Order: sequence, then structure tokens, then C-alpha cells
Amino acid sequence: MEKEILEEKKINCWYCGSEIAKKDKYCKVCGKEQSQKARFPYTKLGIIVTSLFIGPFVLKKAMTSPLLTKKERTKFSATLIIVMAIILFFIMKAINVIGNYYVQMFSY
Ligand SMILES: [Zn+2]
Repeated sequence: MEKEILEEKKINCWYCGSEIAKKDKYCKVCGKEQSQKARFPYTKLGIIVTSLFIGPFVLKKAMTSPLLTKKERTKFSATLIIVMAIILFFIMKAINVIGNYYVQMFSY
């Protein structure tokens, strides 16, 4: 009886989201390790750190992270899109400034 209860404890795989037993060290579906270290990219801090390297691609992680609630996912995604838009705006502005600089250089 007690064993049955223990086996019913299910969690979602940190990678593919498949339902697996909590005691499983590896996902039965995708085979990825379910350790604390493996969870890091899916934590709030992990997603922020990852976003510095892969930018908008982190959105997929944020949307599928089992560690975030639905509300947090929405908030996170919205924030990420705004931040990316601001960065893009400054990049465009910088390109414009550099462009103008060259135009001025060649017009004299
Ligand atoms: Zn999996």
C-alpha cells in the first residue's frame, strides 16, 4: 500500500515535460538527467542568465519551464519581448548613427 503511494508521486521532465516518477533520475522519454544542476536553466535566474547568451531563444525555455507558473511564464515572456524590443531599438539607432557618420564623411 505504502509503495503504491510512493510510486504515484509524479513530476514533469525538466526537458520534454513528460510525466515521470519523482524518484527517476533520468527521463524515460527523452533520457535527460533530472538533477538539480540540470534544472538550473529552467529556474528564474537560469533563464535570465541564459537570455544573456541566446537572447530571444530563451523564450522557449521560459514557456516550457516546469518551475514557473502560468502567470510567471506570461510575465516573463512579456518582459523578455519588451527588453528585446528596447535592445533592437538601440541597435537600430546605433546603425543609424554610424550610417550618418559615413554619409557625412563622404559628402565632404
Ligand atoms: Zn524528458
